[in-house]
Amino acid sequence: MIIIMGPNADRDDINHVIDRVKSSGLQAHVIEGEAQTIVGVVGTPIPPSLQENLETLPGVNEVVRVSTKFKLSGRDFHPHNTRITINPQGAPAGTPPVVIGGDAITVIAGPCSVESEEQIMESARGVRAAGAVALRGGAYKPRTSPYEFRGLGEKGLEFLAKARAETGLAIITEVMTPADVELVGQYTDIFQIGARNSQNYLLLEEVGKAGKPVMLKRGLSMLVEEWLMAAEYVMAQGNPDVMFCERGIRTYETATRNTLDVSAVPVVKKLSHLPILIDPSHAAGKRAFVDSLSLAGIAAGADGLMIEVHPDPDHALSDGAQTISVDEFNILMPKIAAVAAAVGRTVPATSAVAD
Ligand code: PEP
Ligand code: MN
Repeated sequence: MIIIMGPNADRDDINHVIDRVKSSGLQAHVIEGEAQTIVGVVGTPIPPSLQENLETLPGVNEVVRVSTKFKLSGRDFHPHNTRITINPQGAPAGTPPVVIGGDAITVIAGPCSVESEEQIMESARGVRAAGAVALRGGAYKPRTSPYEFRGLGEKGLEFLAKARAETGLAIITEVMTPADVELVGQYTDIFQIGARNSQNYLLLEEVGKAGKPVMLKRGLSMLVEEWLMAAEYVMAQGNPDVMFCERGIRTYETATRNTLDVSAVPVVKKLSHLPILIDPSHAAGKRAFVDSLSLAGIAAGADGLMIEVHPDPDHALSDGAQTISVDEFNILMPKIAAVAAAVGRTVPATSAVAD
């Protein structure tokens, strides 16, 4: 159910509506548009008298019953693209915010894993100088084998925060379990939900409560519909700042690690107002293909890229084969900017902070 407020509705009118919805044991999500405000009702069951009841409240224009599946992530009641604005926590004064879903595409880069302080600082300086606005790096790694490097844990988070304090780059790092959300949330600017956890509903709800933007990687065999439903889990907890990341799905093809589903970009864009990024690295599995997949993603209309970049990829502790060097990233960035320009997007100018 959605409640469409009239053009003259004021704050008190909206608050009355919210109180009435809440008193029925339901949640109210307010969507403020330029011309009008809409209140979305989430939850069940909706008492039969609620619609009539709401229609009599001051400021209410119309109450409409809806059956759309994607109540919060879908475009039906939120036609305009969502822009997520991030002010990197503890970055140097003057660091511009990172905007995801705006005119400019967002390039996030960094190693698969945080391996040491030196490695993450060198990565951060390198990717920032090349034009990235955010730094990736896993401190908790979901490895296929339990005997492989599984991350530095909190030490890794500390190193990421140090890199942000010097370079101003926003940071994104994976959280694997609800028990770690609080700790990871003390450091990160964006929670990354990995492909293996994309339907871990308790984890999705926990990051939904944490009040920081969330990147939802697509699961290995996840339908687009299921992906949007995962976003609903986060958003239903009151967190509107969700973005998707297509990182390849599992198909019969073995020439690449996964198959990049480029078509997911226009499909998601049609269904949802949330930003979508491409991770060419986990799709390719081989560094030789990272450039092509990056450019294809931007050409298809993605809002950004998340690319694995390491100062010495051949000695990376995880995903080295699909990781490009800082030098290769420097060569790729102008190509990304050229394709972005060709599809009417820009790349943000690097800030003047800490060169
Ligand atoms: C990663 O980003 O390093 C990662 C583990 O990605 P995914 O969850 O997409 O496999
Ligand atoms: Mn990786």
